Amino acid sequence: MPIEFRNEPLTDFSKEENAAAMRAAIEKVRTRLGKEYPLVIGGERIKTGDTLDSINPANRTEIIGKFHKATKELASRAVDTAYQTFQSWRHVPANERAKLLLRVAALMRERKHELSAWMIYEVAKTWPEADGDTAEAIDFCEFYAREMLRYAGEQPLVKLTGEQNHLEYIPLGVGAVIPPWNFPLAIMAGMTAAAIVTGNTVVLKPSSDSPAIAYQFFELLEEAGLPPGVVNFMAGSGAEVGDVVVDHPKTRFVAFTGSKEVGLRVNERAAKTQPGQLWIKRVVAEMGGKDAIIVADDADLDEAATGVVQSAFGFQGQKCSACSRAIIDARVYDPMVQKIAERTAKIKVGVPTDNATTMSAVINEKAFKTINDYVEKGKAEGGRLVAGGGSDGEQGFFIEPTVIADVKPGSTIEQEEIFGPVLAVIKANDYDDALRIANDTQFGLTGAVYSIDEAKLDRARNEFHVGNLYLNRKCTGALVGVHPFGGFNMSGTDSKAGGRDYLLLFMQAKVSAEKVSATRKRAEAGTAI
Ligand code: NAD
Repeated sequence: MPIEFRNEPLTDFSKEENAAAMRAAIEKVRTRLGKEYPLVIGGERIKTGDTLDSINPANRTEIIGKFHKATKELASRAVDTAYQTFQSWRHVPANERAKLLLRVAALMRERKHELSAWMIYEVAKTWPEADGDTAEAIDFCEFYAREMLRYAGEQPLVKLTGEQNHLEYIPLGVGAVIPPWNFPLAIMAGMTAAAIVTGNTVVLKPSSDSPAIAYQFFELLEEAGLPPGVVNFMAGSGAEVGDVVVDHPKTRFVAFTGSKEVGLRVNERAAKTQPGQLWIKRVVAEMGGKDAIIVADDADLDEAATGVVQSAFGFQGQKCSACSRAIIDARVYDPMVQKIAERTAKIKVGVPTDNATTMSAVINEKAFKTINDYVEKGKAEGGRLVAGGGSDGEQGFFIEPTVIADVKPGSTIEQEEIFGPVLAVIKANDYDDALRIANDTQFGLTGAVYSIDEAKLDRARNEFHVGNLYLNRKCTGALVGVHPFGGFNMSGTDSKAGGRDYLLLFMQAKVSAEKVSATRKRAEAGTAI
């Protein structure tokens, strides 16, 4: 293993050989659509007969896969199986667990475009967005493998004469891993990889909108040699079987990424001690955002407009880090609104299998309706539509990239997470006002400031209360190891995925202190008789 971690390079699809490879992968995956998938508990493939369909958001009648849904009983069995497997997996040496992740990363690298193609079909990612997701998944495996070796090494303690002391990190137990659909490979793989490399076992419940890509990853784990029962794959309704896994007394921790509402529910339920439960459950919950980009009066307006539009509409605005508020100094407001609108109009909405598409469909019918409702609400509350506003749900869930200007601070679309291609533009009196508006939210995930004034950027460092702050660049696109990721306030527990603190959340430290006897001291000194 190379000593230093390096981010997986992104693919340049302007090169014909890369584009051809992606087209071939898309064709290959097309032939595999519509198959049936079982639950996998302790290595056993189980079919319940009751299936959920994962569909293509850009072609709503196309079925990506049919997934046998877990029942409450099977969900409970999955936790019991994970608990039994934990008794052996916990003793597998850290370097073997780390090597497993490296094998998984190597397999993902080999099948990079194929994995991306699954996401193109299943969640309507454009080519570069899918490629970024796959690269991030590889990064998580590579990064956490190295991190595990660091934690498994000697941990520094203050020396005490007469004692030999030792601190080691040991796993927690069974984890419920509950990912969202929006980074259906990266976040799902990242949380799972972190849990197993630290010696835990997992019940993986993928989002009902993206079980197919999760299943591909699960099979890669098996291929890489993961013993049965370390990860148990369980598709099913979040509300129905999610509660069972979170509540189960043998569940030791929950790694959740998703909406604020579900995250808070998980946190509350996990806090309730169940009969027979021996621990306080740990909850890692990364949740929503209402991320803002501030454009100061001295900013480079072209760069700022490009950053705002990329952050607002990349993957249809369905990133927790997406810019959903552009807060603009009144002195540059009009030209900025114009530049944002011009760039937005150039976005090409279409099917994601086509490389020319720069934005595709939103995830499902429910999201399609909710996002359209927010657009109406934004207009009704006095917003001025300056780009987009239309939608077409006939073939897929297509919504135009939409910019609503003159949005009032405190109004609905300025406060609530929309999670779609809708940008609210807000006029600020000055930089003070802009910072105040930006911080006036229950969330605190990402944020950005465009300004050439170091003093203004310094103020943002001190006053803009977000877990990931970006200066003179877009507020999306965090890289593993480079930008450890996690939010403040209702955006979550600030777990900083892809950072040096992350694996600690999946372990507990055990200290052993041994009194060194005189005989042993003599033996060590080589003076024993
Ligand atoms: P969601 O909350 O609807 O679902 C997340 C997961 O929870 C899914 O797997 C779902 O099936 C499951 N679930 C639903 N009800 C459950 C229950 N009662 N018990 C247990 N699990 C349950 O979120 P989503 O729509 O999949 O994802 C979008 C949200 O995720 C947005 O709010 C976005 O901001 C957030 N997100 C946050 C981050 C971050 O790092 N902070 C990253 C990505 C997405």
